[in-house]
Amino acid sequence: MESRDCGIDPITRMQGKESFLSCFQQFLSAGKAKGYVLLYFNIRSFRYYNILYGRKAGDEVLRYLAGLIRKTNPGDLSGRFGGDNFVTVTDRQDIAGMVQSVCFDFNTQYAASTMMLKAGVLRLDERNDAANCCELAKLACDAIRDTADNYRFYDQDLSRASRKVAYILQNMNRALHEGWIHVYYQPVIRTVNNTLCSTEALVRWIDPEHGMLSPGEFIPILEEHQQITRLDLHVLEEVCQTLRTRLDQGQFTVPVSINLSRLDFTSCDIFQEVEDCVKKYHLDRQLLKIEITESIVMRDPQLLKQKMAAFRRAGYEIWMDDFGSGYSSLNVLQTFEFDEIKLDMMFLHHFDEKAKRIIRSIISMAKQMQLETLAEGVETEEQYAFLRDSGCEKVQGYYFSPPVPPEKLDAMYRNKPEEIEPAGFSQYYSSVGRVSFITDQPMSILDYDGKKIHLLYANRKHAEVWNQLGINRDNWQDELFNSCDSYLSLEVRRAFEKLEPDGEAVPMEFNIYGSFISLRARMLAKQQGHALISIDGLNLYRREMSDTENRDYIFHVLFALYDEVYLIHLNDCHFEVIKAGANQASISREWRRQSWQLNPAYAAELYIQKEDRAAYVDFMNPQMLKEKMKNGDLNSITRMFRTLTADGTYAWCLHTIQLVPGTDLAVYSSQDVSELKEQFFPDGKER
Ligand code: C2E
Ligand code: CA
Ligand code: CA
Repeated sequence: MESRDCGIDPITRMQGKESFLSCFQQFLSAGKAKGYVLLYFNIRSFRYYNILYGRKAGDEVLRYLAGLIRKTNPGDLSGRFGGDNFVTVTDRQDIAGMVQSVCFDFNTQYAASTMMLKAGVLRLDERNDAANCCELAKLACDAIRDTADNYRFYDQDLSRASRKVAYILQNMNRALHEGWIHVYYQPVIRTVNNTLCSTEALVRWIDPEHGMLSPGEFIPILEEHQQITRLDLHVLEEVCQTLRTRLDQGQFTVPVSINLSRLDFTSCDIFQEVEDCVKKYHLDRQLLKIEITESIVMRDPQLLKQKMAAFRRAGYEIWMDDFGSGYSSLNVLQTFEFDEIKLDMMFLHHFDEKAKRIIRSIISMAKQMQLETLAEGVETEEQYAFLRDSGCEKVQGYYFSPPVPPEKLDAMYRNKPEEIEPAGFSQYYSSVGRVSFITDQPMSILDYDGKKIHLLYANRKHAEVWNQLGINRDNWQDELFNSCDSYLSLEVRRAFEKLEPDGEAVPMEFNIYGSFISLRARMLAKQQGHALISIDGLNLYRREMSDTENRDYIFHVLFALYDEVYLIHLNDCHFEVIKAGANQASISREWRRQSWQLNPAYAAELYIQKEDRAAYVDFMNPQMLKEKMKNGDLNSITRMFRTLTADGTYAWCLHTIQLVPGTDLAVYSSQDVSELKEQFFPDGKER
């Protein structure tokens, strides 16, 4: 049995706690303490020794230690404070030597076990409160709990630290009630669209006396003294209230992640607390994300698992904070279900090749487990670029912004709606997670909003392919994808319209500037008229006409792409029909009469709507054509004309003339694009 708190401890025959304190108090009150010290002993890992070898063996250890203390410090002022804690008061001069010798004897006796004796030392001098002295000596002893040291004096540093602990614990209530506790928000940026996609709520204590206290100072204290839950609930309420106010006032809102502590899961029904708060403020559960550090889940895994499941069932995302900082990250991943992992900052602190390899493999592992990744502590452009290219989906750090008060966050983004992810698009952009970025093949991600194609991301290989085509101007994407004069833009749109949001990769081929491009496109997600598309398998064919096989290939592609195709021999301006259009029978007959000679004015009269004829004649002027083709960096020209179709009406057709590289030939083609005209002239105005 444990010793009673009064009288003599039956195991060690030393004084019990109460008895010791009363003797010690008399000693202090008598003013005899000058030159004396109080030693507070504690045995690390004693509990496990007890479990392993049984209670009896444990009692033996206690008796052995009591004997050591008695031997070095005979006299009345020693005691056992319950468990494996002992105290003794002495005026021996070589305190360090004495403590070390006790520790040495003990540690030698139990060298085969993991037990270790530790001591805290307090100089008594002017002190007069017995219980307080024991607390302070214990504090010194606890301070070396996880170090290799055997003893520590209670000194200035510990004194300052303990005053802070006392201050925080005493003023916690006041801080909450008097508004000293503030919530700051740190932006989280989604790499693929470079927009603000959420914020993290980080608490600040702005003290009227001590100024700003960082959570690193007060959170561990509140956790140790079981006060953290009140703070976390306060933050929860504040965050929900702020979200509601912003929604009511029509200000931008993005989801907010809050940090929960282990105690929140045992000291209250945290799931119900969150639910109540979310309901009270009529919020969507998607607006609140829950962060749990990997270290908190190990103590009571079963309970935590249930609570986490409740959150996820209800529709909250749970993010694993500080992934990689502990010893058991992978175990935790295996045991618990998370939606996202936040890579610990330490990976970026030593940002060398090794760290990069680790980060890349964590990201690819996360993708395989369908977890999103967020990297914390991003401080440089270089780190950001690396993370983006590795497929890390979100980033957070001083490079973007430190945690800031809500007014500041609002000011940062108020007039920049394009830098904020639109509400409801979180799932849409998250689908990028399915794409592997770590590849030596070209890949890119596009957002097609039904009108414009936005290149969100392209890796280096992808850019290299386009560069081979001589396309490296800044605005090349827009020229290629979003200009009505670009043949590719029309073809790409047609092809994209056919994609389904099932993620199936669809092979496509395009003709561009006389070269052919094959690629695979897949639609990752669809939302409010937007389609998110990933491109891979990008391949460029630049073939010479002399090679029959390639010629066949090219014509095969041309046949598939165009309504009609002709070959123009530029040296004598004569025409060769490759694929006659549906309406071309009569025109071809006419042309035959024209000895296949290119006669733009005549052709215009036959099949171009009156208003467009002059422009068409300009476009087809053989002299101009040769000139353009000869000196042009551009070996392709395109233009839209209202053109006669099979049913006798005029429709918008795109006419394209492309030089065949290395020859005196050009391919002339046209296709009906009336169904796509809307995208280029949405307001009905034509050029
Ligand atoms: P955490 O959740 O890992 O939060 C990230 C910490 O890193 C924050 O420190 C943030 O200010 C800091 N940080 C952000 N970007 C950078 C960067 O680029 N470089 C560096 N060196 N640091 C960066 P903070 O705000 O001092 O918070 C410290 C810890 O306190 C948090 O770590 C979290 O564990 C805890 N904490 C904060 N607020 C709360 C809360 O409301 N409840 C609970 N239970 N814990 C909280
Ligand atoms: Ca956090
Ligand atoms: Ca963290």
